[in-house]
Amino acid sequence: MRAAPLFNRLALIGVGLIGSSIARAARAQNAVRSIVATARSVETRARVAELGLADQVVDTSAAAVEGADLVILCTPVGQCGRVAAEISAHLAPGAILSDAGSVKGAVVRDVSPHVPPQVHFVPAHPVAGTESSGPDAGFAELFINRWCILTPPQGADPVAVKKLADFWTLLGANVETMDADHHDRVLAITSHVPHLIAYTIVGTADELGQVTRSEVLKFSAGGFRDFTRIAASDPTMWRDVFLANKDAVLDMLGTFSEDLAQLTRAIRRGDGDTLFDLFTRTRAIRRGIVSIGQDAEVPDFGRPHDKLPPVPRPYAAEGE
Ligand code: NAP
Repeated sequence: MRAAPLFNRLALIGVGLIGSSIARAARAQNAVRSIVATARSVETRARVAELGLADQVVDTSAAAVEGADLVILCTPVGQCGRVAAEISAHLAPGAILSDAGSVKGAVVRDVSPHVPPQVHFVPAHPVAGTESSGPDAGFAELFINRWCILTPPQGADPVAVKKLADFWTLLGANVETMDADHHDRVLAITSHVPHLIAYTIVGTADELGQVTRSEVLKFSAGGFRDFTRIAASDPTMWRDVFLANKDAVLDMLGTFSEDLAQLTRAIRRGDGDTLFDLFTRTRAIRRGIVSIGQDAEVPDFGRPHDKLPPVPRPYAAEGE
């Protein structure tokens, strides 16, 4: 027999990649009794209804949160403060208010002033995603074996924090709790700066006069292709991330620029040892990520090559 749902009514404000994945996963795991959803545009709300992602799709954030015991803001981080102001007077006493934002300090700063005294604010960041956006992009398995970081403010109700942790665990995530500022520093180097580098490289390649656009596309498998996947991420979401996590990103970029200058010098001086030592260390980091199950050990990022003709073998296999 399945356990009773953890929450009675889940309200999702914003139903893009993350909101729609939460809806699908919460349904699949019987984590909530009912789901009510809203999004900014009529088109997205209509699509959410068409996909059957929620029991009810409503026009405003205020209407969505009425009677909900779990509210998750799944909008770009720049919208969280505005939405919190809209829903503040409509939140049910005892409700847990959370979010999925990729930056935590700015969300805490913008949302906290609007949280009524009987509502438990527990910010969260599921560290899982793809470069796609919108309600069609989500899938129920997105959070399985990924981390969800909770950043409860000082004095947060431990029962509410535990209940939200149980929710994310039920959706398949591993849950960790940390301070919002620490989260922002960690994510600046593991996610935000890598995205900025991808945006830069793809932009630079696009602007290079001596290499034609067709050559950039044709020979992209030399590494460029993998940057283009990251650089295809949602422009609104990532604009908001860099504006919201400005200090930590600038700090990490400072360190990155110094390291890049060192590598530039090593190449200029023909200092192969410096290059070799760094590449040996970075290869070990990649292997570490695979060994803790955060990626698979398949070559070429697991891309299938099933259209290739069989490779002729110079010797007969056993039994042939
Ligand atoms: P998304 O696919 O672009 O979806 C955003 C949703 O928010 C859309 O449904 C949008 O509605 C709605 N929205 C925007 N402003 C709104 C407002 N003022 N009121 C109500 N709804 C509003 O974005 P996402 O990728 O799901 O990201 C959502 C959040 O999760 C962001 O904070 C992001 O930082 C975080 N996150 C993203 C990833 C990732 O890889 N994508 C991973 C982890 C966390 P319309 O469609 O009508 O505009």
